[in-house]
Amino acid sequence: MGTSAGTHATRPVAYVHLVTEEGGGWGEVAALPRGTAVDPPLTEVWAELEQWAIPRLFEATAARSGVLPPAAQVAALFGTSERAAAARHAGAALEMAVLDAELRLAGRCLAERLGASATEVPTGALVGVPPDHSAASVLTQVDQALAAGATRIRLKIEPGWDEAPVAAVRRAYPDLALQVDANGAYAAVDDPADALAALDPYGLACLEQPLRPADLPGHAALAERLSTPIALDESLTTRRRLVDAIRYAACRVACLKPARLGGLLAAREAQDLCRAEGIPAFVGGFFETGLARSANLALAALPGFSLAGDLAPPASYLDGDPCGYPALSERTRTIAVPTDPGVGPPPLGTPPAERRRHPTPGH
Ligand code: MG
Repeated sequence: MGTSAGTHATRPVAYVHLVTEEGGGWGEVAALPRGTAVDPPLTEVWAELEQWAIPRLFEATAARSGVLPPAAQVAALFGTSERAAAARHAGAALEMAVLDAELRLAGRCLAERLGASATEVPTGALVGVPPDHSAASVLTQVDQALAAGATRIRLKIEPGWDEAPVAAVRRAYPDLALQVDANGAYAAVDDPADALAALDPYGLACLEQPLRPADLPGHAALAERLSTPIALDESLTTRRRLVDAIRYAACRVACLKPARLGGLLAAREAQDLCRAEGIPAFVGGFFETGLARSANLALAALPGFSLAGDLAPPASYLDGDPCGYPALSERTRTIAVPTDPGVGPPPLGTPPAERRRHPTPGH
């Protein structure tokens, strides 16, 4: 997948497997091999898990006489670390594993636990910057994504590769829900508003993260000058940042990524806030495998996620998905929100609850 930050050719993935006396659960680490300005690389999250986060969960378990903390308390163990970004990603994977264990034991699905009521959700698709920078390549990718059931397309753009692909897609699909994502690339341009005003006539649903993550004033200034709504993604690392972005009028659409925010429960809170403020939100992705992407399906069923998120099947960007993922309905162009107990399908078909005796963490 090509973005203004480069191309992802491989996708190593790490899972957390939690084994308890009653069963167990799985969590997926979202981090990609290369980090961004706000997201740590996988190796950093791995080190964080090994050296700090897993021992921290064991300590918290020991402090509770060998009983795991409830999932709702897991994020609080990690979110305040000075190494905050890697700690939030690590905490998100551990929270997912604890949630999965709780839900499997209780026979409940994640959507029910989150309070989501939708039973099916539409999907959006990402179309990267093609290596040949040709509009024909973009159109081919858009055709494929729409044929695969996507109802919303996010085009990756960068300076010099913006109006041409947008114009080509808009000509081919006048009514398509179309948005663009710059991954901060316009911070390098002298007058970003001047460069990006060319996109205003194309009726885009939003223009995502044109400037650096910390530049909320810059995004607010752009929002004043452009008619295309500004969306934020990399800027939204914590609830605090989301509150600030909304207060500064820097964010009219929110892309919320559970791992970056510290977990599924933090993402639920963030969508609550967006909903209360009238900010449409969508679930963003990290090219997850079926476990974390199934969790995102349940999250996307919450009412605050009013826009189609990055929920395309992992098979559309991975050579192999060790977990599995629900099929898209061609008739409704939606994916059914999973109702099986747990967060999502575990990797390699591992039995949902391993009921063998094993020392409880912390002992
Ligand atoms: Mg983005």
